[in-house]
Amino acid sequence: MLDLTVIPSTGATLPEVRVNRHWINGAFAPEEAAGWTERVSPSHGVAVSRSQRGTAEDAEAAIAAARAAFDDGRWSGLSGKARATVLLKVAELIEANVDRMALIETLESGKPITQARGEVSGAADLWRYAASLARTLHGDSHNSLGQDMLAVVLKEPIGVVSIITPWNFPFWILSQKLPFALAAGCTCVVKPSELTPSTTVILGELLAEAGLPAGVVNIVLGYGQPVGATLASDPRVDMVTFTGSTAVGKGIAAAASGTLKKVALELGGKNPQVIFPDADLEGAADAVVFGVYFNTGQCCNSGSRIILHEDIAEAFTARVVELSKQVAFGDPLDPATQVGAIVTPEHGAKIDAHVSAARKAGARVEIGGAGLAVPGLGAQFYQPTVVTNVTPDMAIAREEVFGPVLTVLNFRTLDEALTLVNDADYGLSAGVWSENVHTCLSFARGAQAGTVWTNTWMDGFPEVTFGGVKQSGLGREIGRFGLDEFMEIKSLVMRIGRTRAPWVRPR
Ligand code: NAD
Repeated sequence: MLDLTVIPSTGATLPEVRVNRHWINGAFAPEEAAGWTERVSPSHGVAVSRSQRGTAEDAEAAIAAARAAFDDGRWSGLSGKARATVLLKVAELIEANVDRMALIETLESGKPITQARGEVSGAADLWRYAASLARTLHGDSHNSLGQDMLAVVLKEPIGVVSIITPWNFPFWILSQKLPFALAAGCTCVVKPSELTPSTTVILGELLAEAGLPAGVVNIVLGYGQPVGATLASDPRVDMVTFTGSTAVGKGIAAAASGTLKKVALELGGKNPQVIFPDADLEGAADAVVFGVYFNTGQCCNSGSRIILHEDIAEAFTARVVELSKQVAFGDPLDPATQVGAIVTPEHGAKIDAHVSAARKAGARVEIGGAGLAVPGLGAQFYQPTVVTNVTPDMAIAREEVFGPVLTVLNFRTLDEALTLVNDADYGLSAGVWSENVHTCLSFARGAQAGTVWTNTWMDGFPEVTFGGVKQSGLGREIGRFGLDEFMEIKSLVMRIGRTRAPWVRPR
């Protein structure tokens, strides 16, 4: 067991165990709570945070606060400029708090500290971008309906939004949703994952410091049942936006259907990268390794399914295996680490079960394929793993493993590659590597995916909309279309002068 106060790799001091309370109507809930959940670091085995475990009543109180805050217009009634001012201030405060937020996120999730820092500071930019959108909200107008008619199409905030987030990028995913909902004028209730609540609660403190009116954002901590389920079904909520597993997403859509509230879902993926022989193969191999091991493979955009042209399959696989041996794997608090811990022992067992089933089905594990205890730390690590001799019908080629596990398939023609790409329940992202622009464009048009990367992987920008097709999701996030998700459209049709012909004719 570690000394609780000192970070071994840097010598810096660890924070005390953080206490997280619900944040409702601008105030933290009193200490007494129905229950508490303790989060123990998956990498270091030490207690990191204690969080209140919400009840349905807590969720209902948060919804009531958000409803009242929306209905009295304390936020939606402000100008875009006033909303943007608050969002910009939040971005500034996030940047000032990157170190402490990244540290607690690493300790709760097991992700490498440099990736946690990148996540938190990148999220600040999402807040900045959303602020710019708050000042450019506009609908449409029609002035060709006749001289005596004018119509304008308004975009109005949808109302109260429930935001339910996962543990893999807790702060980034929250920031893909919350600032956009706020820019639109909505009020919100947020439920972070029970495994990684702290950065969301720290954000609550920053929102208050930035001058956000009470009740506009409310945070309830706890599990899917009862908190998430209440947020998905309560009739006072107008929209639910969820990021997480496809199975839970389907349950949320069903729960929301009772009152036909709008649902936006960002779900799982089994994302293919297709590599042609004319590609920059060294660049592609590096991107493949990055794509599958980033965030320890616990990434919706994990490029976990590579599809190699048969002429290069052997050499390319050998190169990927070689690079897999070189990734820096170990203590997430060490700034040199690239692959950290697995979030829970149960999740580690699931990853291992996927690899064992593939072995049994005839696949070959070229490297990795087992958990590993990192000396001086806990045992919750999984080795970077490459699986070959895979057929498209094997579960490992079809199901999301959500760990550092790469599956290799082969193809001969573009059509064959596209058939493999599209033979999937998921459609989050896909990639193609070739120096031939026609190959890349044909692939991009034919791939069933919300995002197609050509000659790169996982480059993302606040401006560029993101989301999935098929069972990877519904709706879009970030970019201008991401803002639109949080708006309702109202058409206003106006007659100029008394030109309306009477319907009732005098008898
Ligand atoms: P999860 O579905 O288990 O949980 C996500 C959130 O939903 C958590 O806050 C959880 O408490 C809550 N929840 C659980 N049951 C619920 C219920 N019945 N009603 C309401 N809420 C409920 O997902 P996870 O394990 O936290 O995250 C991993 C999954 O998220 C992976 O499948 C991954 O692909 C997906 N993901 C998708 C994206 C994307 O943008 N498409 C991004 C990140 C993660």
